[in-house]
Amino acid sequence: MTGQEKIRWGLIGASNIAKQWLTASINKHPDCEVVSVYSRDEKRASDYARDLELHSHHTSLESLLADPEVDAVYISTTNEKHREEAIAAARAGKHILCEKPLSISTEDGEAMVEAARKAGVVLATNHHLRNMATHRAIKDVIRSGELGEITSARIGFTVDLPGDLARWRLNDPSTGAGVVLDLTVHDVDLMRYYFDADPVAVTAMGLTSGAAPHGIKDNVTSVWEFPGHLLVICQDTFLVPFGGTAVEIHGTKGSVLGADVLWQKPQGRVTVRTQSGTRELPVEHVIPYDQTIGDFVDAVRGRGRPSADGVDGLQALRFALAATQAMETGRTIHF
Ligand code: NDP
Repeated sequence: MTGQEKIRWGLIGASNIAKQWLTASINKHPDCEVVSVYSRDEKRASDYARDLELHSHHTSLESLLADPEVDAVYISTTNEKHREEAIAAARAGKHILCEKPLSISTEDGEAMVEAARKAGVVLATNHHLRNMATHRAIKDVIRSGELGEITSARIGFTVDLPGDLARWRLNDPSTGAGVVLDLTVHDVDLMRYYFDADPVAVTAMGLTSGAAPHGIKDNVTSVWEFPGHLLVICQDTFLVPFGGTAVEIHGTKGSVLGADVLWQKPQGRVTVRTQSGTRELPVEHVIPYDQTIGDFVDAVRGRGRPSADGVDGLQALRFALAATQAMETGRTIHF
């Protein structure tokens, strides 16, 4: 690929998220086009390519990566495959947008970041919450100083897993199933984004409900310490169909509250409460994945950076895995 030609994308994984969201966001960008898909299953690959009107489909990763029509890949397979696919893509000189969690171990994530660095390709992680207008508004309020010193926060990622979403997330331990690598990893990325800092400690408790076999944790609460005497509690569960999601950030002079803000859909409300009263912030909702793609293109063109790069993905993974370790050992993990 040279200069300002279109970035042609290959999808690694005939996934739900690629079909529901990312293909549209990629194709919407004037510099991008999705041209191909790789699935292990011939029928899934050909059906997918037909439905999305792609030029081609592949049933081996090698074949997709050897396709001269493909400049960048979007990896949205199950989590345990991200490492091998990202490293192979980097070696083939393809730019990479990888789904979260970046992988299922810190060593995997480090190897992916190193492979991209060595190959000189962009590696981005799809931590989309950073790109929601609601979270950007919350961060702006925190940064403005209006809330005073931030002392505590709460993230309620209280959802359920309708239909096909439960398939591997609740049943297959080899994929890194469970809420920690699905939801907590988003929380920790969001906290790093809000506070521009890494946590200094975490402790956690987790439960397995009757719905989850193999001891997979589908209900986890973690408590995080951030620099500056700030404690954050994260409640992540697949067991709550009607609770709604929420973020609350509390400071010595005020609070900012986000309601229904932890989704893929552009939605939710943000309210600020201070001595002056309560006001709802005007939010112009955007599809977060459009911004992910826009920032990715800027990074490929050398005029910006991804909204969350490989190191952001690695850090979120590292801290989420520490929450698992805290949960399993009953100890507080200090970083
Ligand atoms: P899917 O379960 O839809 O797809 C994952 C893989 O499973 C596919 O690559 C496909 O592989 C295989 N597959 C797809 N459909 C079927 C089926 N009916 N039967 C058997 N296998 C199937 O995954 P998701 O889209 O839910 O998630 C994919 C990744 O994206 C994960 O890493 C997840 O964490 C992440 N994600 C991120 C979100 C975000 O907002 N950032 C939101 C949702 C997911 P193949 O075709 O090769 O067999």
